Amino acid sequence: MESGPLQRPTWAEIDLDNLAANYHSVREFVGPGVECMAVIKADAYGHGSVECGLRLEREGVDWFAVATVEEGVELRDARITTPILVLGGFWPKQAGHGLNHDLVSAVFNMPQIEAIDRAAFKRGVVAPVHVKIDTGMGRLGFRSQDAAEIADKLAQFKNIRVEGIMTHFAAADDLNSDFTARQIERFEEVKQVFSAAGHQPKYADLANSPGAVAHPASRSNLVRIGGVLYGLGGDVLPKGIKAPELRPVMSVRSRIAMIKTITSGETVGYSRTFTAQNETVVATVPIGYHDGFRRARSNLGGVIVRGKYAPVIGRVSMDWITIDVTHIAGAQFGDLVTIIGRDQDSEIKAEDIAAELGTISYEVTCGFSERVPRIYIEKNKI
Ligand SMILES: *Cc1c(COP(=O)(O)O)cnc(C)c1O
Repeated sequence: MESGPLQRPTWAEIDLDNLAANYHSVREFVGPGVECMAVIKADAYGHGSVECGLRLEREGVDWFAVATVEEGVELRDARITTPILVLGGFWPKQAGHGLNHDLVSAVFNMPQIEAIDRAAFKRGVVAPVHVKIDTGMGRLGFRSQDAAEIADKLAQFKNIRVEGIMTHFAAADDLNSDFTARQIERFEEVKQVFSAAGHQPKYADLANSPGAVAHPASRSNLVRIGGVLYGLGGDVLPKGIKAPELRPVMSVRSRIAMIKTITSGETVGYSRTFTAQNETVVATVPIGYHDGFRRARSNLGGVIVRGKYAPVIGRVSMDWITIDVTHIAGAQFGDLVTIIGRDQDSEIKAEDIAAELGTISYEVTCGFSERVPRIYIEKNKI
């Protein structure tokens, strides 16, 4: 698979069959009675939210989650009909727009709740909302200590119905701490407070990927899974635990644009940060930091050519990288370059790049820009 003949040959392959396989693998792992909300915010972590959404919808996913109303509208415009939760909530002025597109807001502040109630009243509907509770993440959500007050206030709104209550884990990947257990306990108390106030939420959800996999007690009746769907378990799941089988979904590839031999003492790239110690064969590849090949990988990262690892030499620039292919016999113009993925016996995972950069794989896959066309692979299309 490759980008079109009129395009620069730098592309991301998105294997939708592997996405579907990961979804079924996780679904099986969390067991019956647990619905799955596929988190496809941020363009499905860079994988393409419309295409991933359409495939997961056909596979029977129960819910989608996005970060913003804009992301939700994009899915509705693509004729996705599965329920969609907006994790970042509606901003007050977006409330009518969100309801018109059948989006459900997570709620965590009063201006937003008042605006949704008003917009629902105008439309003659009762809007479902999912109440976000902060049990220890310290980011979004009403503080769990304030649950009784919030539950009472919410009960006063005639055009809002609490369909879900939810919380988010701060450290579900850390099995040495009991913080996740504390968050689960606090959430159980909040559930009771809400039911005492007369709410009957259909959903109570806590788990992200590490929660769903590593903390069975957090699965409740819905899990919100992102990273594992894209096969990005390596750095966000606790090590050494029983986990579902996951396959990588994104590969990123390019082709050699130019090849040259330089002699000892010559330098490569901006600021002359690489000096050849010997005769060196340098290949230039059309991917740079605007595409998502991070500049921090200058003289650090690498790619695969003809099944062999080729290190980046010199600075990563906006549109290009330079790599050392001295040891790769026959390397020539047009050769396939693998930035993420497998080529023969070598593989570079998003997790490997993340480790190099001191980040997580999510930031790596999210980081490939729109200049890198996504090519969708789907052999077992249903
Ligand atoms: C992004 C997000 C998730 C998904 O997290 P993963 O680690 O990718 O599974 C779940 N819940 C909330 C609130 C999120 O923001």
